[in-house]
Amino acid sequence: MDIKTNIPLSTLTTMRLGGPARFFAEASTVEQLVNLYRNAKKLQQPVTIIGGGSNIIAHDEGFNGLIIRNGIKGFEVVADDGDTTTFKIGGGENWDNVVQRTVKQGLSGIETLSAIPGTTGAAPVQNIGAYGQEIADTFISLEAYDSENDTLVELDWQDCSFSYRHSIFRGSSQGRYAITSITLKLYKKNLKPPFYSGLQRYLDENNISEYTPQAIRTAIIAIRGDKLPDPQFVANSGSFFKNAIVETWQYTKLQEQYDDIPGFKMDDNHYKIPTGWLIEEAGLKGDVINGIKIHTGNALVLINESASSYADLANARDSIISAVRDKFQVVIEQEPLEI
Ligand code: NAP
Repeated sequence: MDIKTNIPLSTLTTMRLGGPARFFAEASTVEQLVNLYRNAKKLQQPVTIIGGGSNIIAHDEGFNGLIIRNGIKGFEVVADDGDTTTFKIGGGENWDNVVQRTVKQGLSGIETLSAIPGTTGAAPVQNIGAYGQEIADTFISLEAYDSENDTLVELDWQDCSFSYRHSIFRGSSQGRYAITSITLKLYKKNLKPPFYSGLQRYLDENNISEYTPQAIRTAIIAIRGDKLPDPQFVANSGSFFKNAIVETWQYTKLQEQYDDIPGFKMDDNHYKIPTGWLIEEAGLKGDVINGIKIHTGNALVLINESASSYADLANARDSIISAVRDKFQVVIEQEPLEI
């Protein structure tokens, strides 16, 4: 297997920042992945696994260890009961290709997760979600290498402790598991309204009333294409901030001051406030701070226009967090993980 040295993390991450990885290799099989981990352990080198690099921010000093890119492919039907089809998918498969292939088969469950960059193995890490679907809804299980116990494991839905854009893989077990495959169960039926308002608007404007997985996918691709910069051409890492989850009393208080503040009830005690709205209302949309632009199409997205270091990004991030906190007394949090 080809192990490279001194590969800039700026070439492996879509924010295009970060110093060199001491070692870098791509694993195309589970066996290769396990061998890479074992050899790194013998050499006392830390290991980090990455997928498409679209939800990771790298530091200027780089990574003094081994970065493994997950290139494990695979797409097989493991069960079909007439109403549902269950797939086992390699962790290194491009996520949107997976959505495209399942949608082509008329299957529902992940169609609104169209056009999300990154790999399939990375999808459960932050429980990717968009327009009302999240991967936890169709997730059955995953296979992973447990680097703590040097063994291959299978984890089911409960083991992963999914919550809003979160799982054990970015919480209590961060860095422990390398996800080699995931198993999803999809449905042979169409989605039913109500839809998110942006999606409904597009469907209405285009006179679409048959909500086939393909029609929904086409709509999502068009909507995202309008609002979000493509990381292939524009350096960014999708939503840079999580939506703010606040207690109901705080949301009610903010409503008294800002009667147009959007909010969505999460449970009896919490509301979700779109962070894009908070950043825009703080007057920052379109601003450029240290070469980092707050995207005009969606203020949740930060674009690296000309930042040359992690420090530039961190300063911009901290200024945005402070501005939102000063205006609304809400502390917003970064979504991408850091290496
Ligand atoms: P939008 O439609 O302008 O809405 C702003 C926010 O309000 C969304 O983030 C969404 O939360 C929430 N929201 C809207 N309608 C809702 C409803 N009916 N019920 C509950 N929550 C609702 O959002 P947008 O920024 O263009 O994003 C649209 C979708 O794409 C969202 O689901 C968003 O999460 C997803 N997205 C994800 C990323 C990423 O990198 N992770 C990037 C861009 C967009 P939720 O985020 O909880 O859905």
